Amino acid sequence: DMPDNDTLIIVLGDVDALFIAHMAEGDAVMLSMTGNKGAKSHPIGTGPFRFTKWVRGDRVEMVRFDGYWNPELPYLDKVTFKFIGDASAQLAALKAGDILVLENMRYYAQEEGKGCTSEEQAAFAKELASFGDVYVNDAFGTAHRAHASLDAITRHIPVAVAGFLMRKEIDYFNRVFSQPVRPVAAIMGGAKVSDKIGAINNLLRRVDKVLIGGGMMFTFLKAQGLEIGNSIVENEMLDTAREIMENARDSQAKFYLPVDCVVADRVEPTANIRIIPVQEIPAGWSGLDIGPASMRLFAEALQDVRTILWNGPMGLFEMEPFARGTFFMAHTLADSYALTIVGGGDTDVAVHTAGESSNMSYISTGGGAFLHLMEGKELPGMASLNDGKK
Ligand code: ADP
Ligand code: MG
Repeated sequence: DMPDNDTLIIVLGDVDALFIAHMAEGDAVMLSMTGNKGAKSHPIGTGPFRFTKWVRGDRVEMVRFDGYWNPELPYLDKVTFKFIGDASAQLAALKAGDILVLENMRYYAQEEGKGCTSEEQAAFAKELASFGDVYVNDAFGTAHRAHASLDAITRHIPVAVAGFLMRKEIDYFNRVFSQPVRPVAAIMGGAKVSDKIGAINNLLRRVDKVLIGGGMMFTFLKAQGLEIGNSIVENEMLDTAREIMENARDSQAKFYLPVDCVVADRVEPTANIRIIPVQEIPAGWSGLDIGPASMRLFAEALQDVRTILWNGPMGLFEMEPFARGTFFMAHTLADSYALTIVGGGDTDVAVHTAGESSNMSYISTGGGAFLHLMEGKELPGMASLNDGKK
């Protein structure tokens, strides 16, 4: 609840239609985080509105975003979209029901604090804060970054709160880490151990089972002295992989590695393919997916679990012959009675491609932020919020 003449500052998340619906008569300033600086078109926001033909300093064009647009929504006529040119002049002209959309914050060096002084960054954050009375951060996907519009800004605004999406993300995550329904399993995949090492270590202390698939499995296999042919491997991670497996032996968590894999003589869809036990990978061949025996093993290991966290594909699922392990996991989670929480950009794509996105309990909208949480770290974009207690 906020007074009608107050201005909301919203950092855009994925479901900002909610905010527009809740705005009532107030006005709002939206800060957008998405949109690649280098690209010619910069869609911002994936809620009901999407803007294309984004040229810096121009007006934006609003286009229909299929699947979200509902012309019956009453608040739509109240909203006039403006694009930042001279923000202060446009701010002064804001009327109740208006929304002013600011361009991608990362156009400014002060946002990331690179290539400017810390004083300049602080001044930028203060200026942004002066745009409104109440700050709402709903951009979970960027919450792991301590940028000006996510962190420093909150030191200059009395009420800084989490948006609906941010709350939903944290609520689901807490169902894995604080008071989860046990047993809890974490399935980890993806290309590299180094990307996920922090997460794996943290998970071993918190969950009951850790299942490893994807390219990172080969670093673990090599660390055990097995031949892995041309499979992807991080040689500088072999000691770390050994330590993880030793820690797993001492921890309550059970650690599962694939027992077979799909190997190919080339990394191409038309390659020759074999399914073999992991200890028999031929020289010159690459392991590109978990095999059917591993799928069985993983499905059995998940039989008794009541909460499942999944991050990272089981294989090179972008190529059809190596997608079966990943799709199998998607179907297994979809059919499971457990609470299923999925995170990671590529895993999200895989679950959608498998046609199972609506059958997961929750799919996180954050890649880096999700990984950050799995590592047991605090999110700067969450820690900066004061819930109005300042
Ligand atoms: P996410 O984005 O879900 O966190 P990652 O970015 O960590 O996942 O890893 C996804 C990538 O890992 C995918 O592009 C996939 O093709 C690749 N990958 C998985 N298994 C293998 C493998 N055996 N060999 C090569 N690449 C793999
Ligand atoms: Mg990825």
